[in-house]
Amino acid sequence: MAVAELDDRGLIVACANCGQKNRLAFERLSDSVRCGQCHENLSAPSSPLEMGSTPDFDRLVAHATMPIVVDYWAPWCGPCRMVAPELEKVAARQAGRVLVVKVNTDVLNDLGARHGIRSIPTLAIFAGGREIARTTGARPAQDIEVFIAQATDAARP
Ligand SMILES: [Zn+2]
Repeated sequence: MAVAELDDRGLIVACANCGQKNRLAFERLSDSVRCGQCHENLSAPSSPLEMGSTPDFDRLVAHATMPIVVDYWAPWCGPCRMVAPELEKVAARQAGRVLVVKVNTDVLNDLGARHGIRSIPTLAIFAGGREIARTTGARPAQDIEVFIAQATDAARP
């Protein structure tokens, strides 16, 4: 899976129409944004984003204006492979409402250690810069969506 491209201020995405790379600012992830070159609407990320570094993850979680669903996984983990297509469905159906990101705990093992991840897959939801819910084990997309809805409803002021 390709690693998501981020910089200090946002997520870098290619325009589906012209290929131009655009930055989606962390603070404006839920806004509709147009391509800087061809002015087509840029669609919100609709597939899981693999995190390439711990600073990327930290910046995204700290500044993102939409809930982030984090899948802690590793390539050797069978249940992680079962949940991967379910997360693809969630990312597609919830595009523009939540962002699904993947953390390979073999590569970003400092993140797994910092968040006390003891078993994988673990799904965690971050909102407003902090973790608001966590669950472990593989489950179907519908169950993941219920988990997201319950966590984000409970966190709403
Ligand atoms: Zn474009």
